[in-house]
Amino acid sequence: SFEEACRASLAYFDGDELAARVWVNKYALKDSYGNIFEKSPADMHWRIANEVARIEKKYKNPLSAEEVFELLDHFKYIVPAGSPMTGIGNNYQVASLSNCFVIGLDGDADSYGAIMRIDEEQVQLMKRRGGVGHDLSHLRPKGSPVNNSALTSTGLVPFMERYSNSTREVAQDGRRGALMLSVSIKHPDSEAFIDAKMTEGKITGANVSVKIDDEFMRCAIDDREYIQQFPIYSNNPKTKNAISARKLWEKIVHNAWKSAEPGVLFWDTIIRESIPDCYADLGFRTVSTNPCGEIPLCPYDSCRLLSINLYSYVVNPFTDKAYFDYELFRKHVGIAQRIMDDIVDMELEKIDLIMEKIKNDPQSDEVKSTEYHLWEKIKYKSGLGRRTGVGITAEGDMIAAMGLRYGTQEATDFSVEVHKTLALAAYRSSVTMAQERGAFAIYDTKREENNPFINRIKEADPQLYEDMAKYGRRNIACLTIAPTGTTSLMTQTTSGIEPVFMPVYKRRRKVNPNDADVHVDFVDEVGDSFEEYIVYHRKFIEWMNVNGFDTEKRYTQEEIDDLIAKSPYYKATANDVDWLMKVRMQGAIQKWVDHSISVTINLPNNVDEALVNRLYIEAWKSGCKGCTVYRDGSRSGVMISVDKKK
Ligand code: UDP
Repeated sequence: SFEEACRASLAYFDGDELAARVWVNKYALKDSYGNIFEKSPADMHWRIANEVARIEKKYKNPLSAEEVFELLDHFKYIVPAGSPMTGIGNNYQVASLSNCFVIGLDGDADSYGAIMRIDEEQVQLMKRRGGVGHDLSHLRPKGSPVNNSALTSTGLVPFMERYSNSTREVAQDGRRGALMLSVSIKHPDSEAFIDAKMTEGKITGANVSVKIDDEFMRCAIDDREYIQQFPIYSNNPKTKNAISARKLWEKIVHNAWKSAEPGVLFWDTIIRESIPDCYADLGFRTVSTNPCGEIPLCPYDSCRLLSINLYSYVVNPFTDKAYFDYELFRKHVGIAQRIMDDIVDMELEKIDLIMEKIKNDPQSDEVKSTEYHLWEKIKYKSGLGRRTGVGITAEGDMIAAMGLRYGTQEATDFSVEVHKTLALAAYRSSVTMAQERGAFAIYDTKREENNPFINRIKEADPQLYEDMAKYGRRNIACLTIAPTGTTSLMTQTTSGIEPVFMPVYKRRRKVNPNDADVHVDFVDEVGDSFEEYIVYHRKFIEWMNVNGFDTEKRYTQEEIDDLIAKSPYYKATANDVDWLMKVRMQGAIQKWVDHSISVTINLPNNVDEALVNRLYIEAWKSGCKGCTVYRDGSRSGVMISVDKKK
């Protein structure tokens, strides 16, 4: 049963109940009747390793299952994200291995039929476990003439509600579907879009982000007029109106401060830096992002994610002798890139299975046609670009383990070096694979000649560039930094690029006051008694162990504060890191990440809008591709603060 499985895997996670439950709930192999077939993550890691080895055998210099298992074991080095971790070698569900999809229309078409088709495609993808994003900029603004009984169009907002509701319908074994809706700031309805979620209970099933261009940012900063138009890319638009960029910008800042949305996507930076957009005319024009923003995508492409656990490359963590094992890291990044490419093959097989299933479904062809055609389109583009999402987790713990403080220049310089190493090793691996397995079908050195990311690679490693020009590259784009929400529970580290949330915090558990040995710290309004206990961030325990602090002792709050002050996590937590420095760090790291970075700047409740304004502007100036803020307590029921977390 579920409870038995949790108990059985508890020892694996050193008694970390949350990790054990999440593992059983999300990743352990199970059937539709509740039977659980994996007793511990080791079983899961063998399932994945065997599958990777099966694909590897098709190519030169194959990795063995044992070699792969060693890297996955105990989530130590390489950790596939949710969809691949659950789906690889899983014959109990017909699901996709992709974490991210973007869908959309070709050209500027906007019709009820097209709107409904997107709605259906969204649901069909979510049902196979994917996160989905799409852009609404092609929809006619409110009040536009239409030649049907409505006479004028309703604008974007009712459709946002539709897509949000569809998302909330789809269950994904222990979670809901996730959706990103974006719109260009140039669209006349963008203000309505920005306000759409401000009414409580509205559009709760979608994340919303505005695509902001450089011209808008300059107009907002200089307080100049900005021209909105529809269609947004037309040289001869039907609608055109001048607005105050400053006012609209202030609204974005206010809403983000108030309710954590909209997120901002600095669209010109995304497009300028995007390698796939060198192939825009071949179907790779980026239009939106996946739900958490780390993968900008073109319609009907997909991406699978994996994280490298950065903490594990710090030798002698938390001591004077700490150093980063660059050699081992380079080697593992190369393998991670290969595993990701193997997973592209696995995904193409999965898509065949999905299409086979649709074909054999006892439904009329009319019902099945949208779904079938959808997977045809996804299969085509996923195979054409062979996109991968090699990322990281535990950036915050890596920095602390090196004795550095997150948010300082020194820590940022070190992080940038790590991400540069990562980028070069992943690209080297992709070039080697081009030699062994063939380049992605449309690779063309000439097309990528002016891409800033490619030129950074060229400057840092001319030999790599030369080899790439000669052999090509296996994958159109390779890198990302995802939030690693659940993955970081498995690795028991800080998540993604984020600093530690809280190194030490208190939780309460209900106790019976009549039992022997209970310690009642708190009685609530209905008379239930609670014991408070301290939860340490796992790597904070490492720090305590290494530095000779007793981890069993019942510390007072004062003693805890004192411990934190002595540790490298001091003034380096989500709530007290130097936020401007954090944004600059993101911008500096972005230079070595070809996709995007998912970041949330966590802010205390009492910060003002001026700070959010400064952070967003700094994010744009620093070369970030996107940014979101979350002010503590600003969105009830969406995120729970740590002491309420179960
Ligand atoms: N994702 C999703 N639904 C979820 C969690 C994640 O669709 O409930 C997708 C989404 O595209 C997100 C990506 O997976 O951007 C990566 O999320 P994360 O890094 O948090 O993955 P995890 O650690 O949960 O595997």
